[in-house]
Formats: sequence, C-alpha cells, structure tokens
Amino acid sequence: MAENECTRDCSTCGANCSSRKSESLLVPQNAGSDVKKVVAVVSGKGGVGKSLCTSMMAVLTSRRGYKTAILDADVTGPSIPKIFGVKPGIEGTEEGMFPAKTATGIEMMSVNLLLEDEQSPVVWRGPVIAGTVSQFWSGVLWGDVDYMYVDMPPGTGDVPLTVFQSLPVDGILIVTTPQDLVSMIVSKAVKMAEMMNIPVLGIVENMSYALCPDCGKKIEIFGESHTEKVAQQFGLRVLGRIPMDSKLSKLCDKGALELMENDYLDEAQKAVEEALSVSEKR
Ligand code: ADP
Repeated sequence: MAENECTRDCSTCGANCSSRKSESLLVPQNAGSDVKKVVAVVSGKGGVGKSLCTSMMAVLTSRRGYKTAILDADVTGPSIPKIFGVKPGIEGTEEGMFPAKTATGIEMMSVNLLLEDEQSPVVWRGPVIAGTVSQFWSGVLWGDVDYMYVDMPPGTGDVPLTVFQSLPVDGILIVTTPQDLVSMIVSKAVKMAEMMNIPVLGIVENMSYALCPDCGKKIEIFGESHTEKVAQQFGLRVLGRIPMDSKLSKLCDKGALELMENDYLDEAQKAVEEALSVSEKR
C-alpha cells in the first residue's frame, strides 16, 4: 500500500483531508428540556469562589425575571446545593430526573443531591465524572430555561475539557483572585475557549479586597491587582469585583444566598444578558 493512501481510519491519520468528518462530542439535550443559553464558569484552581460567583450570577439572573438553572459540574467539590440550602433527594420518571428547586425557583442539579450522605467524598475517575455531567445535561428534565450556569470542574485539564466538549456552551466567565497567577490562568482559559470556539464573556475578580465589617473601609490585602491589565492584554473586560465579604460567606453557610444584597456582579449579569440575549423574557 502506498504511504499516503487513505485507509479511512482517521484516528491514525495526520492529514486534514476533505473526507475527514469532525466528530461532535455534544450530548443531546433531554426531550423534556429547552435550555436557551449555557454559561460556563471556570477557574484556574479550586477555592477561588467559582461556585459563589456561579450562584450569585444565577440569583441576579433569576431576579431579572429569567428562568434560571445551575448545573453543578464540579462533581468532586459540589457546593451549590449547600449555598442555596437545598437538601438531597431527587425524583424522576422514565424520561429523566427532575431538577431540585431553590426557594426562589432556580433549578439545580448536583451530585450532592443524589448522594445518601452529602459528606461522603466523590472518589471517581475523570471519565465517570464527565459521564455524570453529561447525564445532568441529557438525563434531567430541565423544562424551559433561559440561562443555565455551569459550575465547571476547576482547571483546564481532562475533566473540564471533556465537559466543555459535551455541553453546548455559549459563553465562558473566568473567575480569578488577585494573587492567583492571573496572567497564566487567564491565558490557559482563553486558549481552551479558543480551542472550543466559545467566546469568553469576561473576567470576575473575587476576593479583590476586604471590607472592614465595622467601618466599611476597603483593604487591598493582596496588594495591587493586575487583573485589569491582564484582561486588556487578552482583549477582555473585568465584569465585576467581589470583595471578601463576611456577609456573603455567612449567607452561603446558612444556605441563604438568595437573600444577598449587593451590586458586585450587577454589571457581569448585564454583560451576559447583552452578549447572550434570549428572545422573550417570561
Ligand atoms: P470554588 O468553587 O472556586 O472552589 P467556592 O465558591 O466554593 O470556591 O468558595 C470557597 C469558600 O470561600 C466558600 O466557603 C465561600 O463561601 C468562600 N468565599 C468565596 N469568595 C468569598 C468572598 N468574596 N467573600 C467571603 N467568602 C468567600
């Protein structure tokens, strides 16, 4: 056989020829779902406030009158149900599982809602984690949803990559902290987004400063932030800054984030609404 003869086995071939068909790994949506826009919230590592930011964005979006959902794809560190005070227990039919609902009607699905003991660790390998997230997309009867926020697994490794390839993500929000090697993290997230052809909507900086609980003074505990400069380098906008705010952590601990009163992410929510508009508002 001649060296360059086509064997029809694209998996072993380096040539980008016309007969090569790009295989979509997208998982189909459940027949009982109509999710209009999917926003993935990513971070370079865990503990930077990605789940808090996802939850705050969902609260603000829901307050604007949109049907809102959260898919908790951070399978090994699921914190969304706790932030909203939602207890485990999911019901379903042969067609799929029903998402849980928060006090104000935000829909959610998380592995912690399916575990008998929410304190048990999820010690699963990458493919199982990615498969679980796919099922949260295709096996859940989400119904009509305007905006779904996906709390992504942290980092830019195998698991977030597989999740990205299986969900029809419309835009990405990057969460970072001022001391968190911003340039490298933003660069990795931007490159991952480019690979997937998904627009980055902007950056949210968390723990930007501390707010004195007594006098309200701003304290830049991590020194001067470089996030704005880095954002400009990549042609991105910093859409919001969240301070270290003990009111927020207390509300998360009580499972009552929906009672939050602040404007930290108002601009970020508006930016998502403008970039990814859903035609009719309910
Ligand atoms: P990640 O999803 O990136 O792992 P989380 O959103 O779970 O991070 O945040 C980690 C912890 O830090 C949580 O207990 C959360 O309540 C707290 N936290 C995050 N950001 C803030 C903030 N800006 N102010 C107060 N507490 C915060």
